[in-house]
Amino acid sequence: MPTPEPNRAQYSEIWTDLNTRLNRIELSDGGLAAALDALKSQQLDLGFIKDDLHSMRRYRFAHPEDPARFFLVQYNPVRALRFSGAGRRTPPEGSVAKNDGCFLCPDNILWQQDGLEMGYEIKLNPTQYIAWMNAFPLMPLHCVIANGNHVPQEWCLNGATIECLSLEKMLDDLVRLSERLPGYVGFYNGKGAGASIPGHLHFQFFKRPDLWPHFPLEVAALESGIETHGTIHNYPLAVKFWRGDPEDIVEGAGSWIRRWLSRNSDQFLSLSANIISTFNQAQRKSELYFVPRHQSRAQSPEMSGTIGGIEVLGEMIFSSEEDGKRLERGEIDYHTAERILSAARFDGVDA
Ligand SMILES: [Zn+2]
Repeated sequence: MPTPEPNRAQYSEIWTDLNTRLNRIELSDGGLAAALDALKSQQLDLGFIKDDLHSMRRYRFAHPEDPARFFLVQYNPVRALRFSGAGRRTPPEGSVAKNDGCFLCPDNILWQQDGLEMGYEIKLNPTQYIAWMNAFPLMPLHCVIANGNHVPQEWCLNGATIECLSLEKMLDDLVRLSERLPGYVGFYNGKGAGASIPGHLHFQFFKRPDLWPHFPLEVAALESGIETHGTIHNYPLAVKFWRGDPEDIVEGAGSWIRRWLSRNSDQFLSLSANIISTFNQAQRKSELYFVPRHQSRAQSPEMSGTIGGIEVLGEMIFSSEEDGKRLERGEIDYHTAERILSAARFDGVDA
């Protein structure tokens, strides 16, 4: 007997109640971060979040000659279970899979996750986003913030024929969400640069961990002494960095990225990026990192997973059993992480 579809009316009633409650929390002192905290508790209670990260281990590997420089590696044996919890792929009788069963379209999520997965509607004028918790998080409060519409992950430039977000709108949305989530790191993974669902535009956000809350990429930005914008040195990846008010960052980064795309137009269809955004509350400044990527350089032979936003920040996610054993045997060090990131390096940021 196939499982019947969860009760749609009941689901939508719980959804509305939950969203009303979360919105009230957001409008009180805690802001969006408090609303996400409450969503996480609800999703843990319902059993949608399968891992509370109790088995996750993080390692810090310092550079042998310069201990201020370091990389992080994490290993979590529970992640091996994530494929069994990925949700159903074929709809029950009476349901239709929309957009090829996209895992970020709310109509599909209802039957894919048996009514367990609930989201929080974030209004970002005039666009709507929905925050969804990660069932197998990589970081504390790790969530996906997905566009309310099924629009592709790629940005649009002039002359695009399909409906999608312009580069500037995408940057603006990412930066605006970050501004509402101080203490979080937000990022965009382009197609072939760690995006797991390239059909539906989404960002990922997570709360900074208590231990080692600042990432190697951020330390490299600080060491580079960049005031408003510049290139980060002392890092295995080529990275462009901006700091300032949201409007200035979106304008500056937008025009720089357009120039970068046109300089590399011969490889246009293979170009991708990781874009990382944080908000420094003490200085009231946004910070944005643009990491140019090429879709053919998504992996390293020294790590089983794809190189995405968290690796780019300087924390390698070791997920296979073999990865875990190499860590235990002491076969991993600073230079391993450096080589993993170098495999994804795509130059051409200095022109
Ligand atoms: Zn979708």
